[in-house]
Amino acid sequence: MIHLPLVPNRFAQTLQQHGLALQHGRTEVLQINVGKKCNQTCAHCHVNAGPARTEVMTGDTINRILDWLAQTDISTIDITGGAPELNPYFRHLVERVKALSPQRHVIDRCNLTILFETGQEDLAEFLAANQVEIIASLPCYSPDNVDAQRGDGVFDKSIAALQRLNALGYGTEERLPLNLVYNPVGAHLPGPQTDLAADYRRELKAHFGIVFNHLYTITNLPISRFATFLRRSGQLEEYQQLLLDSFNPASVAGLMCRNTLNIGWRGEVYDCDFNQMLDMQWRNGKPLYLWDIEPQQVENRPILTGDHCFGCTAGAGSSCGGAIL
Ligand code: SF4
Ligand code: SF4
Repeated sequence: MIHLPLVPNRFAQTLQQHGLALQHGRTEVLQINVGKKCNQTCAHCHVNAGPARTEVMTGDTINRILDWLAQTDISTIDITGGAPELNPYFRHLVERVKALSPQRHVIDRCNLTILFETGQEDLAEFLAANQVEIIASLPCYSPDNVDAQRGDGVFDKSIAALQRLNALGYGTEERLPLNLVYNPVGAHLPGPQTDLAADYRRELKAHFGIVFNHLYTITNLPISRFATFLRRSGQLEEYQQLLLDSFNPASVAGLMCRNTLNIGWRGEVYDCDFNQMLDMQWRNGKPLYLWDIEPQQVENRPILTGDHCFGCTAGAGSSCGGAIL
């Protein structure tokens, strides 16, 4: 097992005060961030993604990850970015995972507008043919909030994309799950997930005929572009205090870092995508890459934490699969 010194921080201290420990269990999800390039530049983006970013995972790195994955029984491959579909090897990755075993579940974290980018005309059909689950951001069911956070015209394109996905069976056929992500537009915690899901379901159906499976509420972590926004608007300390004051010990058992490994565009290993953006790479005297890790070395490994972790334990808790409680 690899041992790392844990730097004391307020989150680690809070866990200690509650008698809680945070370490990896069995890895069930391999989350691969295939690059920071994106066709959007959303205000809250924790990746600082955008069209000018050049960090993109190479085909060689993807093949090394696939070789590693083949030695494991990890059941879910969660592909994220940037806009992951802009990686030229995105489809290769999806097809190779399915070739390893059709039972492996693939998730595409899709920003919806990518469906209308040049070269992506058949993306929706490709995803459906490979039974890829889509998790798509839609921070509101009305245009003003979405365009304010994600850019002018994003709402209309997102609605058109969802209608196209519904037409292929997404959101209705069991093999084609379509899940939406809500994250607050401002410096506050998300409202109750069940209530918001009911609102989304009613409004999207009534106005646009759109159906979906689940709505996930995700708390914005005060890092990257969202931290810059908070700093510039003088809200950073207040928001960090809100997250700290909202610490919910019951959420710790469901934190996604317990069962997930996160991989960066060069193959580096992290506890989660947030730690990746903070350069909290796994080390053992030297930086570690996925191919340096034996799958059985992961279990019981301590998780690197920082003050940003309060974003995952505030209120009902937050993970890539929405509220924890
Ligand atoms: S939040 Fe998603 S869609 Fe928006 S810039 Fe970041 S990666 Fe792109
Ligand atoms: S940011 Fe959240 S998921 Fe990442 S290590 Fe901290 S608690 Fe775990």
